[in-house]
Amino acid sequence: MNLKAILAIILCKLLRLAARILHRGGTAMPGRWALKLCPDLLSRLSKDVRTVVITGTNGKTTSARMIEQAFREQGFSYLANRSGANLLSGITTEFVMNCTLAGKMKKDCAVIECDEAATVKVFPQLRPQVVVVTNLFRDQLDRYGEVTHTLGNIRSAIESVPEATICLNADCSLCSSLALTLPNRAVYFGLEKGAVPSRAKAQLSDATHCIRCKTEYEYDYVSYGHLGGFRCPKCGYARHAADYAVTDVIEQRSAGTTAAVSIRGERRIVEINLGALYNVYNAIGALAAAMEMGVGADEAVRALGVFKGGFGRMEAFQLGKADVRMMLVKNPAGCNQVIDYLENLRNRFVLVVCLNDRGADGTDISWIWDAEFERLNNIAGRIEKVIVSGDRAQDMRVRLKYAGIPDENITVERDYEKLVSSLEPLETDVCLMPTYTATLELREVMIRHCGGAEFWEG
Ligand SMILES: [Zn+2]
Repeated sequence: MNLKAILAIILCKLLRLAARILHRGGTAMPGRWALKLCPDLLSRLSKDVRTVVITGTNGKTTSARMIEQAFREQGFSYLANRSGANLLSGITTEFVMNCTLAGKMKKDCAVIECDEAATVKVFPQLRPQVVVVTNLFRDQLDRYGEVTHTLGNIRSAIESVPEATICLNADCSLCSSLALTLPNRAVYFGLEKGAVPSRAKAQLSDATHCIRCKTEYEYDYVSYGHLGGFRCPKCGYARHAADYAVTDVIEQRSAGTTAAVSIRGERRIVEINLGALYNVYNAIGALAAAMEMGVGADEAVRALGVFKGGFGRMEAFQLGKADVRMMLVKNPAGCNQVIDYLENLRNRFVLVVCLNDRGADGTDISWIWDAEFERLNNIAGRIEKVIVSGDRAQDMRVRLKYAGIPDENITVERDYEKLVSSLEPLETDVCLMPTYTATLELREVMIRHCGGAEFWEG
């Protein structure tokens, strides 16, 4: 380490300490200043750290937590960017907080979540050993532009690390197209036909036409959104066989899934302690990534059964007598998956949707019109009532009205204190669907009302 790098490390540690004392979040800010002083600080620090990076639209956080658990099972010493600091600055801060003043790293491995748009800056410095691309969906158009632009970003980022193994979702025609042009070693994960509920159908038009020749894809099966067994009838681009495959979903419960998987041809039964099909994707992707990083099959499989959920992705609270589950929603595909989950619930429940349109949520809320709230009609008998909240509560109310939910069953409550107080005496289950910034505020109020107690799903 040269003097500049050491000064940058000291500055970063001091700023982080100050941010902590002043309770001002501040995971990104210290790293930003450190990088001003020493622009290649992250590459100096990460040189001898074996890193797995997780990027893609949905499932980054859950996948990262699952990989972390696998590292723990294997006894790897690792660092991770847990607080959602997934840009260059936040990742740099995380590395600095795990090194000595002289710049010697205290950990051998890293599990890093990376924003899709930030990959171009992060990868050349971080030089990951394994890159996982979970899936690509239309998300926050106002921030990223078209989904193919996001794909282009990830492709350029991977071009800078030809030695990395890329771990791709075989069922996503967008992600798996990365292997068409990149020289990297590629491995694939996905769901086979037998693992997909037969009622599933293509829901969204994120990628209807062949990325190579623009012919419309044909599908053997669809799991959700544009994910599934796609094939182009003209040029032959088709789903690649998955090295890590879920062959059968044996049992799906609200809080867990039993599935049969094939790990490079070897059959195993895995317990995943999260419900919903999208978490089965997260699990098989995490399993693939962990094993490509050197975790044994036994340890990687065990991790899926003992792992505790990630922030806001599926959190459970006991609020008075009410059993509350909170599920973050941020785009049509993820939202449809939560609706799937609701369709599978057996008990009656109160549904709360909190819609915000602040920076981190994406300021364009038109995505709510692409999500299939109409499907709530299939389970109308089990929905006790619907409460809408958040800055754009009225827009949400209109959307639900158009979906066919009678207006007299919809209540608007913008005040989170009052909202949570009104849930407390309920004896039914409660399902909360907040957008990102609503999650932050709602979660705080929830924890206060639960006497500081919260517990992860599982
Ligand atoms: Zn084609």
